[in-house]
Amino acid sequence: MSAPGRGRRLGLFALLLTLGGSALLVGSSGARLWAENHLPVGALYAAFNRLRPQLNQANGAECFERLRELGVPGRPLSQELMRRENSRERDCPIVNGFAMRWPLAEKRYVTCALAEALYRFYQVDLVPASVRRYGQPVVWIEDAGVRSCRNMSGHRHLRSEHAYANAIDLRAFVLGDGRTIEVASHWDDPEHAAFLREVAAAACARFHVVLTPDSNEDHQDHIHADLGLWKHCE
Ligand SMILES: [Zn+2]
Repeated sequence: MSAPGRGRRLGLFALLLTLGGSALLVGSSGARLWAENHLPVGALYAAFNRLRPQLNQANGAECFERLRELGVPGRPLSQELMRRENSRERDCPIVNGFAMRWPLAEKRYVTCALAEALYRFYQVDLVPASVRRYGQPVVWIEDAGVRSCRNMSGHRHLRSEHAYANAIDLRAFVLGDGRTIEVASHWDDPEHAAFLREVAAAACARFHVVLTPDSNEDHQDHIHADLGLWKHCE
């Protein structure tokens, strides 16, 4: 195809993406129904899904510089490692990956933005809250996973932020004296419920989407926190 022909097709696709994406994401139910019936919805979502990690992870160099200044334990993923990771999971690329060693109990590959938010959440929110409530700092965060190449639960086309290593499921908080406060068993426990709700409220101010056992059946044993494009806390 000639360059002008390709340009016109790209222009048309960009227009469809903009119109269809707007209708699907923020439109009324009528607009969504029209988009579902008249537009290549799967292709639009696929294009949008590919764009999302780039939209989310601008200014990588500045982010890594902030991690360095904060002293976040871990290291940026090398270009080679990122290429390997992203060729294994082509539909779920990590942009600005960071191998975070602590305060997560297990080393995880996360986005730079997620590493920064987690570290600030730990230092500014979790430690003071746990010292106030228990006289002990949280020393480890146990998670139920970061990266998972899948869609949002209940959604046919839209990728989860876990697909891009931009979400974490917080499962438990381990105190300096070894006590462990678990979301699964302590969310409604009179001794720990206030602490876990304080933690969830703090997470809401620091992350974009936060879901808890109060949200739905899928979140009975963890607090989901992500840095995606939407803002929502439950
Ligand atoms: Zn999650």
